[in-house]
Amino acid sequence: MIGALKALSTTLKTLLRRPVTVQYPQRHLPLQPRYMGFPGLIWDAKVGESACTGCMACARVCPTECIVVTMKDNPLFKEGRSPRRKIVDQYELDIANCILCSLCVEVCNFDAIVMTDVHELAAPARSQFLIDRETLHHWGTDYVQRMRARGIEPTTGAPPWERPGYKRPQASASRQAGTSPEGGEAEPAAAPKEG
Ligand code: SF4
Ligand code: SF4
Repeated sequence: MIGALKALSTTLKTLLRRPVTVQYPQRHLPLQPRYMGFPGLIWDAKVGESACTGCMACARVCPTECIVVTMKDNPLFKEGRSPRRKIVDQYELDIANCILCSLCVEVCNFDAIVMTDVHELAAPARSQFLIDRETLHHWGTDYVQRMRARGIEPTTGAPPWERPGYKRPQASASRQAGTSPEGGEAEPAAAPKEG
């Protein structure tokens, strides 16, 4: 009898509780600030060109080989208006094969790619999953602007100690001695960026 009453009270409590789900796709719950969707490219507004040099490091590291990228000589470099000797020519991302692993972002030496929050891209044809350079720049630029408006600096491939506002953690006794508690190496010195 007591068990039945307990079960009944649980049912009544559940009936009165507000639902945690919504009627998708009519309604969307807000994304978490660090939600990771597909990658997008960074646009260097100061120079007026892509931050991507077309170095192909992202294409080489991508485990699903879903990036195709080519580079060309940068005419703005010859005019002395850009620090980039080479610039991206073609960039294509096959989002049907992208597994959102973020390796392309981590490997980029030029902070030219970022994991955006773009994720709802269902389409009837596989050809619509091939995303071109212009669209990737649009995703990246839009994402960076929206995040900065919320006071969040988007995470590109730069290591933490090179990011704006990084505060060095309090060094422990073992780190001050040059070793980590696990016996590994201490944090590496910041590597100079190419550009
Ligand atoms: S996004 Fe970065 S790693 Fe990929 S081609 Fe451009 S510069 Fe190289
Ligand atoms: S997130 Fe991973 S799978 Fe997707 S393009 Fe980057 S490296 Fe490739």
